[in-house]
Amino acid sequence: TSLPEDIQLAILRTIPGMKEVHIIRAGYGIEYDALVPAQLDATLQSKEIKGFFTAGQINGTSGYEEAAAQGILAGINAALFVKERGPLILKRSEAYIGVLIDDLITKGVREPYRILTSRAEYRLLLRQDNADLRLTETGRRLGLVSDERFRIYMEKVRQLKEGKAWLQKTKISPSSKVQEYLKAKGSAPLKGGVSLDEFLRRPEITFSDLMALAGDQDLSPEVGEVLEIENKYAGYLHRQESHVARMEKLENK
Ligand SMILES: Cc1cc2nc3c(=O)[nH]c(=O)nc-3n(C[C@H](O)[C@H](O)[C@H](O)COP(=O)(O)OP(=O)(O)OC[C@H]3O[C@@H](n4cnc5c(N)ncnc54)[C@H](O)[C@@H]3O)c2cc1C
Repeated sequence: TSLPEDIQLAILRTIPGMKEVHIIRAGYGIEYDALVPAQLDATLQSKEIKGFFTAGQINGTSGYEEAAAQGILAGINAALFVKERGPLILKRSEAYIGVLIDDLITKGVREPYRILTSRAEYRLLLRQDNADLRLTETGRRLGLVSDERFRIYMEKVRQLKEGKAWLQKTKISPSSKVQEYLKAKGSAPLKGGVSLDEFLRRPEITFSDLMALAGDQDLSPEVGEVLEIENKYAGYLHRQESHVARMEKLENK
């Protein structure tokens, strides 16, 4: 749509049945100016002009989430700056906001920047199911998480701890109920008792299967989702976590 109007018209007229077509309003490309984001620090403050924060499209991004993500971080940091408190910097391993800002300020932009999962090297750790686990305590420290929201979060943390212990210490045995259930699911029968932790590692077994077979736990589906993901992908997650730790050690050298 950035093509000249006469070219747009010529293209449209190649379409069968549209030989005589007229354009009432031609397509157009959106253009906008942007600052050089490499001139910002990780709080989105100008390195040159202290107390001047910018966020959104003006920093070379495109998109609603990109603008909102920077807006909240720049806003928080502007408030912290005024209050003479330490800055909020989110790491690449903590949040997509961290990836976005780090990319902007270290690499700059040549094209309008959009955040994509593929830009995050630690994307196995940056999941929807653990967003609250990653960021609620930071928000609480800054005074941005209400008592009610924090209570819900703490309850999730409690249930997760309880759920992890339950998976590790509870065994499931090859009772006829279990074997029939497995047969109906097309899963191999149990040869002996196994921990729920190990049982859940079967690809076809979900957390709700555990609840159906052995569940007397009061765990929310949300908590079940985290437990299931952390169980099934444990190997990959641990590898990524140790990579994060190694990189942090190098960065802090
Ligand atoms: C046609 C179109 C379709 C799009 N579709 C999508 C989409 O589907 N999904 C998506 O994620 N993104 C989409 N985008 C991109 C997205 O809309 C923008 O990247 C995003 O809204 C930018 O937000 P922002 O807050 O950085 O800037 P803006 O929303 O442009 O806000 C800047 C504000 O600053 C105000 N302003 C400017 N100068 C001054 C001044 N001197 N004093 C005071 N105020 C001033 C402006 O009036 C404006 O309100 C689309 C963009 C366009 C143009």
